Amino acid sequence: MKKVKIVAKHCPQNHFCPVMNICPTKAITQRSPFEAPVIDESKCTNCGRCTRFCGYGAFQITP
Ligand code: SF4
Repeated sequence: MKKVKIVAKHCPQNHFCPVMNICPTKAITQRSPFEAPVIDESKCTNCGRCTRFCGYGAFQITP
């Protein structure tokens, strides 16, 4: 099954992640604006919305 993962090295880790606001299940959290966000896999439905929204390509679908 395809899964959505965060590739932290693609995230500049210098801002509040706006993708948190567009996740329909609120699966994305971030401890501070200076860290990459994380996905709670128990909440994520792998809908892929975040992969289209992040301009840095930090959210990727893996096979
Ligand atoms: S794939 Fe969908 S449910 Fe999962 S983190 Fe991205 S937007 Fe949220």
